[in-house]
Amino acid sequence: MNIRIGILTAPKIEFEQRENTFILKNVRIGIGFHWDRTEDQEFAGTLEIRNNPDGTQTAINTLDLEDYLCSVISSEMNANSPMELLKAHAVISRSWAIRAMQSPNHEGFHVCGDDHCQRYEGLRRMNERAVQAVRETAGQVLVYVQGDNVQGTKEEICDCRYYKCCGGRSEVWRTCWEDIDVPYIQSVECPYCGRVGERTLRLVLNDYDRETKDFHDWQVTYTAEELSEIIRTKSGIDFGTITDIIPLKRGASGRICELKIVGTKHTEIIGKELKIRLWLSRSCLYSSWFDVKKSFNSQLSTFNFQLTGHGWGHGAGLCQIGAAQMAAEGHSYEEILSFYYAGTRLSTTTR
Ligand SMILES: [Zn+2]
Ligand SMILES: [Zn+2]
Repeated sequence: MNIRIGILTAPKIEFEQRENTFILKNVRIGIGFHWDRTEDQEFAGTLEIRNNPDGTQTAINTLDLEDYLCSVISSEMNANSPMELLKAHAVISRSWAIRAMQSPNHEGFHVCGDDHCQRYEGLRRMNERAVQAVRETAGQVLVYVQGDNVQGTKEEICDCRYYKCCGGRSEVWRTCWEDIDVPYIQSVECPYCGRVGERTLRLVLNDYDRETKDFHDWQVTYTAEELSEIIRTKSGIDFGTITDIIPLKRGASGRICELKIVGTKHTEIIGKELKIRLWLSRSCLYSSWFDVKKSFNSQLSTFNFQLTGHGWGHGAGLCQIGAAQMAAEGHSYEEILSFYYAGTRLSTTTR
C-alpha cells in the first residue's frame, strides 16, 4: 500500500538525487506555529515534481505506508522514546493515514508532510528503534465497533487525532472540528503529562520541540496595543483598540471554542479552537484553554491582557507527552491506546 505525500510547494523545487534517496532543500516545517523554520530533508521512495497552475511547483513523495510510518513516528516524537510510546504512535499514525488515504486531505496527494496532517520529516531523525516499533505493530490499527448484536455491528478504523500535551484533561471532537460526537474521542483526565520529568522530555521530544518550555501551564501577557495589532494582522480586520476578550463557550477540558473579541471599531465572536489560537498570537497560542485577566497598566496608561493557560495543541485524542510518561512508567502500548481512545481495540488490516 503506497501513500503519496506532498512535501513542499515553492516557486522552484530544489533537490539532489542520491543513489536510493533524494534530498529536498529548504523544506518548511511547523508552518504557522511557533517552531516554524526550514531545513533540508532526505527521503526514500520516489519524487515527482508537479507544476501548479499558479507557476509554483510541488514535490510529491510516494512510498510504502509502513516506511512512511517509520519516519512519521520519529518526526512526531524522538526515535529514542520508550518503545511502547513508539508502538502506540505507529498504531495511531497508521490508523489516521489509512483514513486519509481513503479520503485525501489534499488535491493530488493523500497527506502533507507537516503538522497540518502528520509530521513526515524524512530519514534524518529515524533510527532502528522506529523501524522496530513499526515492524512489531505491522498492519495494526485502532478500531471502534458501532452497533449491537441485534442490529448488526460495524467496525470502523479510528480517526486517531493527537497533539503534544493536554494540560491535565483532553478535549472532545466538537470543540475543535465538526459538531459531531466521536465516541472514542472523550474528555479524559490525564495525570501523566503533568508529572513528566526533564529526563523523559529530553528523550521523547525532537530538538526543535525542546525549545518549547512550560507547555503544561503557561502565561502570555499583551498590552491592549500589542493585542490589537496582533489581531488586526492575523484576522485582516481592523477591530480598533481591543477593549475586551470574553470566553463564551468552552469544551469539556476548558478549551474555548467561542470567544468574543470586543474592539472600539468592531466586535466579533470567533471559533473554534484553532482560529482562536491563531488570532491571539503572532504564531499560534499553545492552546485555547486559558483564562483572561484584564488589568490597568498605570506605567503605560493602557490595559494589559494576561492569558493563563494549559496544554499544547487541540487536545482531542492522545496526549503525546502524557503517553510518553505512561510508557516511561511501564504501561504497554495497548494500555496507552485504550486510556486515550475510549472503547477501542486493536485490529490488523489485511494488506
Ligand atoms: Zn495536510
Ligand atoms: Zn496529558
